[in-house]
Amino acid sequence: RAKSRGGHQHCLFSDELAQEHLRRLETEKALAEAVERGEFHLVLQPQLSLASGAVTGAEALLRWRHPQRGPVSPSQFIQIAEQTGIINAIGDWVMSEVAAMLASWDEKGEGSRRVAFNVSPRQLERPDFFPRLRQIFAEAGVSLSQIEIEITETAAMECPQATLDEMAELRRGGATIALDDFGTGYSNIARLRQLPLDRVKLDPSLIHDITVSEQARNVVQAVIQLVRGVECELVAEAVETVAQADILRTMGCDTIQGFVFAEPMAEPEFLAWTSHASIEDRSAA
Ligand code: C2E
Ligand code: MG
Ligand code: MG
Ligand code: MG
Repeated sequence: RAKSRGGHQHCLFSDELAQEHLRRLETEKALAEAVERGEFHLVLQPQLSLASGAVTGAEALLRWRHPQRGPVSPSQFIQIAEQTGIINAIGDWVMSEVAAMLASWDEKGEGSRRVAFNVSPRQLERPDFFPRLRQIFAEAGVSLSQIEIEITETAAMECPQATLDEMAELRRGGATIALDDFGTGYSNIARLRQLPLDRVKLDPSLIHDITVSEQARNVVQAVIQLVRGVECELVAEAVETVAQADILRTMGCDTIQGFVFAEPMAEPEFLAWTSHASIEDRSAA
């Protein structure tokens, strides 16, 4: 098709490129102002223990409501925010928001649920990241045992020792550390042992076809054994069907997160959901 258009193709192509470039510039500009304009909010997706059926915590996920474009999904803006460095301001906002939320739950007697949040490799690179994190939660009066930090497999593999030491120190202070999207990066298995980790989150691509493929099940089973071997808990995310959840339970997966029992929710819905839904309701989902 491209060739048949001959000379026009060049024009069309650069026109599209120019438009894409413009859109990107617009996104960058809008992102830079989005924190101050209050355009972000967090949604919470519950995590369920497969053994007990109890909700053990939640992952906080970022949502951006653009004044003109409406909701923009993280896949459309996180990478741009990382490339421009805006992710640092956004990441600080995420931590402050999680801290404020946990502090308000303490006050309301909502119990001490743990909330996980995602940390970008760009944030980890900054020398002041860990002091800031500690300051934000300390000022809110929130204990480190109420937070879980999610770092992607690729980021963790590339961390310098000093960053791993900081992570280990947080962990000793009670924070939970999770390795996110496990199975998509190129893991150095030997290094896995050296990471200060509590949990490993399986990438959805690994569990996608476990109901139909024996090979897929074998792979997940082997990963579960590996994760057990380094004394971590295994979390499966993006679990969409009861059949997937059943297989994961049989294979010894500890925790699941996914549309099968709950989508990410705004805070009020999350609190209502966790207090009203019974364990029976949840496992019947
Ligand atoms: P992630 O940390 O791996 O988060 C899990 C993603 O899976 C979320 O997408 C969640 O909505 C989605 N999900 C949960 N259950 C299901 C399911 O059953 N089926 C399917 N198909 N998807 C499910 P979301 O919210 O669009 O976030 C995408 C990614 O954006 C996250 O992946 C994370 O890498 C990044 N992200 C989100 N919030 C933040 C943040 O506050 N900071 C940073 N740095 N990154 C974030
Ligand atoms: Mg995550
Ligand atoms: Mg993930
Ligand atoms: Mg991801």
